[in-house]
Amino acid sequence: MLDIQKIRADFPILTQKVNGKPLVYFDNGATTQKPQVVIDAIAKYYQEINANIHRGVHTLSQLATDAYEESRKKIQNHINAKFAHEVLFTSGTTHGINAVTNGFASILKPGDEILVSALEHHSNIVPWQMLCERTGAILRVIPMNTDGELIMAEYDKLLSDKTKVVTVNHISNALGTINPVKYMIDKAHEVGAAVLIDGAQAVPHLKPDVQELDCDFYVFSGHKLCGPTGTGVLYGKEEWLNKLPPYQGGGEMIKEVTFEKTTYAELPHKFEAGTPNIAGGIALGTAVDYMNEVGFDNIQQQEKELLEYGTQQLLTIEGLKIYGTAKEKTSVISFNIEGIHPYDIGTIIDKLGIAVRTGHHCAQPIMNFFEITGTIRASFAFYNTKEEIDSLVAAVKRAQNMLA
Ligand SMILES: *Cc1c(COP(=O)(O)O)cnc(C)c1O
Repeated sequence: MLDIQKIRADFPILTQKVNGKPLVYFDNGATTQKPQVVIDAIAKYYQEINANIHRGVHTLSQLATDAYEESRKKIQNHINAKFAHEVLFTSGTTHGINAVTNGFASILKPGDEILVSALEHHSNIVPWQMLCERTGAILRVIPMNTDGELIMAEYDKLLSDKTKVVTVNHISNALGTINPVKYMIDKAHEVGAAVLIDGAQAVPHLKPDVQELDCDFYVFSGHKLCGPTGTGVLYGKEEWLNKLPPYQGGGEMIKEVTFEKTTYAELPHKFEAGTPNIAGGIALGTAVDYMNEVGFDNIQQQEKELLEYGTQQLLTIEGLKIYGTAKEKTSVISFNIEGIHPYDIGTIIDKLGIAVRTGHHCAQPIMNFFEITGTIRASFAFYNTKEEIDSLVAAVKRAQNMLA
């Protein structure tokens, strides 16, 4: 079992007071807090080895390059990629998805189909719509049921030899549903389609094995797994990354430049134009180490308890309805209280030191499905406690009384 108080001591922000009350941070689905080791890794880079990478022969440049490439290897090991050059640094999930959709612009033809799930974040919908506009490809939606689970029988029916890409999140940010991605990947491959998995909400809770999943692309953001903002990863199978044209042109991504023709650098540099977020990339490696030290078994155990306790306690509130009741779900509880706007609850409980997300969670199609404008979302991390859930429940009850 985790020693939660010891874990909490790793996160300086958790001792803060907000509006004069101890902070209860339940907005981990939007971004997680950072442990001191990650904050230190950023400072250490600037204090001791700041230099541009892959360029200079001088010592600092070598040290910075080594640290950055070591971080890439850590991430490779963490997600079990076959090669380090299949791990591309990005600024986040959004960047990773756009790099892939941009690459497919030269591959797709009018009438080709892209399957997207009904559970997606806007950043895994809009780039595909833009790709459809550019290529004449058609977007089809894999529907869900009222528990917030994708309907596999419908997915099977949508697949055909026209399907070129399937894109789905590993875990839904709005509802917490864990999707059957292994099944979906295998099925897509039977018709020759490529699969992108949006792992933004999965990596804080589990350790993905990209070779076992056999996905073609896996994307995530660093800031949702205790790493810095402005960092992320696009994993792609070597053969796909070789096939897709680069996303951006610039320094670092070339082999040879003349005004007649430019040839591109080898992977991973082909997709890493310009000076990257060096400090962030290094600190992301530190975050991955930190999460592994805590241990994903421990993380899952703690979050499962929080999810069960939170669900039970919140349901004691009259008129409270939970959206997202999938059998397989992570520690996210999206809810509403009859007759009260989510924003009003969020504002009142903020005054009591409690941070939750209110609104559509960048997933308007899900809100439309449930015919609501938004929800209150409490998303728990391994450093949260049952006492904090008690504070949330008490605060929501108080807000309800005030607004009734
Ligand atoms: C947060 C999130 C994104 C977008 O991530 P950014 O870090 O904002 O690029 C995409 N998909 C899901 C499921 C998310 O939770």
